[in-house]
Amino acid sequence: MKFKDPQSVCCPACNCLSEQALDQLVAGRAKCPACGRVLAEASERMRHARDGWTDFVIAMHLSLEVERQNNLRLDQTALGTVHCLQDLIIATEPLLTALPEPDRRRAAVEAVRNAFGAAFPQVECPAPSGKLADALRPHLHRISWLSD
Ligand SMILES: [Zn+2]
Repeated sequence: MKFKDPQSVCCPACNCLSEQALDQLVAGRAKCPACGRVLAEASERMRHARDGWTDFVIAMHLSLEVERQNNLRLDQTALGTVHCLQDLIIATEPLLTALPEPDRRRAAVEAVRNAFGAAFPQVECPAPSGKLADALRPHLHRISWLSD
């Protein structure tokens, strides 16, 4: 994860600004040193940012693999919103113009599955609608370019 550690957090109850260790924040254990309040909102924001970042990195990696295997160029704007394999399938489908339209969805599913298999050979392909960050979290420590 590429986040500043520690993070400066402002307590919503007493406005005390404190430095909080990133792992404590992500674990939901960070407390305001002035009033003792658990800084739950900051923890939630941190987890959200971390998952968003993980989604983004995984989506970028997968999209490059889809492009390489299928010799096509995905729309970069669409890629910014990819959070699950289904999003990537939807981005890939209209580009498979060599195929008749009814065959494109199935081919896009196949292309995304193949890309996932090549990118993460050690991970079983998740359900298309599963969040990428969730599907890969148990494996992140084994994927050197994704772990911290
Ligand atoms: Zn406080």
